[in-house]
Amino acid sequence: MPTLQFFGAAQRVTGSMHLVTLESGYKVLVDCGSYLESFSKDFDPFPFHPSEIDLVVLTHAHIDHSGRLPRLLQEGYDGQILCSAPTYELSNLLLYDSLGLQSKHLVRIQNRQYRYMHRQHDLEAILRKSLDLTMDRFVTIGFQQPFVVSEELSITLIPASHLLGAAHVRLEINESGKKKCVVFSGDVGRKNYPLLTDPSPAGEADVVVCESTYGARLHQEQKLAEDLLEEVIRKTCVDKAGRLIIPAFSVGRTQSILYTLFKLHKLGRLPRIKIFTDSSMAEASSKIYEKYAYLLNEEAQQVMKDHGTLFDFEWLTYLKNMRESKAISNYSEPCIIISSSGMMKGGRMDIHLKKNLHNPYCTFLLIGYSAPGTPGYQLQNGASSLRVAGRDIPVAATVIKTDIYSGHADKNGLLEFMQQFSATSLQKVYLVHGEPSGMQELAQELEQQGYSVHCPKEGEAFVH
Ligand SMILES: [Zn+2]
Repeated sequence: MPTLQFFGAAQRVTGSMHLVTLESGYKVLVDCGSYLESFSKDFDPFPFHPSEIDLVVLTHAHIDHSGRLPRLLQEGYDGQILCSAPTYELSNLLLYDSLGLQSKHLVRIQNRQYRYMHRQHDLEAILRKSLDLTMDRFVTIGFQQPFVVSEELSITLIPASHLLGAAHVRLEINESGKKKCVVFSGDVGRKNYPLLTDPSPAGEADVVVCESTYGARLHQEQKLAEDLLEEVIRKTCVDKAGRLIIPAFSVGRTQSILYTLFKLHKLGRLPRIKIFTDSSMAEASSKIYEKYAYLLNEEAQQVMKDHGTLFDFEWLTYLKNMRESKAISNYSEPCIIISSSGMMKGGRMDIHLKKNLHNPYCTFLLIGYSAPGTPGYQLQNGASSLRVAGRDIPVAATVIKTDIYSGHADKNGLLEFMQQFSATSLQKVYLVHGEPSGMQELAQELEQQGYSVHCPKEGEAFVH
């Protein structure tokens, strides 16, 4: 009988890491993510010896699911990392991009002597080396094709929407003639999301480990992405001749926005204005989306077939570096700037905040979650001024919020995901990857529908 243990994203959102141990002792780790709320926790010792793990399966490329993989390798993991092909390519972007931040955090938490021995750039070189080794361990498999590990275990990836390449993971276990199926939801995406297919059914299961990020929330936006964006652009860039700034993560959200703009352009609904994409990974990420267009929804596949691109048209420019970012801050014509990070913290976003917060002709369109303490969170909550690079800047710009580009299923979407599993044959649902309050609300709802639910604490183990 398999044993499940929960080591991350237990009663919290980030740090996803779950362990399945088979009767034979074979150990499969599902995800090995960073704790985004508290990076220092990333450097806590692993609760097992990494050399004991036989196989890692990665649900998708987001850092809160993949960020601790290099450390796992560094500390003795000697196996493969199984995932979809786009997850490998997007992880390659995101993990290398996170090196600078990781070395900064590592420097901060080490003692003085260590700091003296390893300055930040040395540390970055060490981390880069272990990341090179990590990327070498990735093995990609296709969706919906069972990967047979042994007579006792096969693994299938099922499209989960959420992000290009994101998967539900289905483990089929056959021990002493008894069959068991454990499904990990990964992050569950939404229906009718720009570019992505709807989440696919994961089949019957005995045990489901389900995310609960929006366990207590319902998406509010009723409009179509094209209609909403067209309206905001018209009000900001045509009626006021101002600039529209959209803070967005460069992998995933930026492609959803660019695709919506591309469609508006082809439909003749976009005014003739410049669009600047201002983040380091955006162009590379867009290329990966185009490369794997066959995994996107039917509409996107058709667009790719008709135009040979999903995003590019003559008014779109990808800015390559900080120098180019600074240059467009003086661009006086109406324009749209899509810039990372989504939470508006640091990097090129500082330049846009400094130049535009006090500008009544500017609109900030906030499209995603921002953690408490970030400028995005403050703006979302109606701050009248923001402190940017040591200066208080009054907010005169218009701020608009929408959840239309949120990549997570809301409470109804999660319930729908769960309803594919019959409550009578499913032994247990474990809720992970959520705030305790949202988890409890979803748990109650599922229990009312006849499911047996548990929200595991970190380290808890269960035999099935
Ligand atoms: Zn995710």
